[in-house]
Amino acid sequence: MPELPEVETVARDLQRRVAGAVISDAEVRWERTVRHPQPADRFVAELRGATIRRVGRRAKSVLLHLADGRVMTVALRMTGALIVAPAGTPEDPYARVVFRLADGRELRYRDVRKFGRIGLWERGGLVRRTPQRGAKRKILERRAAYRVGDVFARHGPEPLARSFSAERFAARLLGRSARLKTLLIDQSFIAGVGNIYADEALWRARLHPLRAANTLTAVELRRLHRAVRAVLRQGIANRGASFADYVGADGEPGANAEQLAVYRRTGQPCLRCGREIVRIVVGQRGTHFCPRCQRVAGAPDGDLA
Ligand SMILES: [Zn+2]
Repeated sequence: MPELPEVETVARDLQRRVAGAVISDAEVRWERTVRHPQPADRFVAELRGATIRRVGRRAKSVLLHLADGRVMTVALRMTGALIVAPAGTPEDPYARVVFRLADGRELRYRDVRKFGRIGLWERGGLVRRTPQRGAKRKILERRAAYRVGDVFARHGPEPLARSFSAERFAARLLGRSARLKTLLIDQSFIAGVGNIYADEALWRARLHPLRAANTLTAVELRRLHRAVRAVLRQGIANRGASFADYVGADGEPGANAEQLAVYRRTGQPCLRCGREIVRIVVGQRGTHFCPRCQRVAGAPDGDLA
């Protein structure tokens, strides 16, 4: 599943390739991919003629900022990809939404497993409000006042933002008794970190994934803050990690999977101490760590593993 570095790579690719492009038409081939507005015909009608001003990212979503201020959000989820196809590129049977650009190219939303969602929203709405779930959220989304900011109202801060200081990170962790692994992948705690980069950050910071967040010392807090940012930056530098379907907007996989220290390296030697990496399950998520480098404070070697 694409996490912050993978989505950031897609956004940067698209910024280079489609910023300034005009969407002359769109075709929705899988209705449920369109989250807002509905039905899909309305989504297409409202998009026709729009100019893409710039492409960015928030959490694990690609944001296409349109010239009139509206924002199209693309949540890639499990297998989503945004690919720029030059005119004459063969049809893609997994393209769920095709955006036709005025210059003849196509921006294709490809999604094998169809979990991804695309929405078109008015600007603004960044004020935090009570989170809504399920049916209640759907009703809210039909209201005109529901804006792009509301889509991300439940998301925590961006870990690579300059404002995300060690102090702010420490303040957010304070009083949280959740296990570190669980907390790091919680999108309302910080945005964009998933299974891969949580495991990598904890290994780098030499912290056990089952450690309770509120037991960290000031030194450990700073180490974890640095580690989270470092693994995300490395991921972006390597254009993301490809395990299954993730590709950049050029259709090419990223190179970060080979650079990972613990994720999916079960049974292989720790790059720091040589001990075998182990895998446990935390909150239904496979979790990889080194039982020697990442001990629970005071616990004997390998305890809790
Ligand atoms: Zn180790």
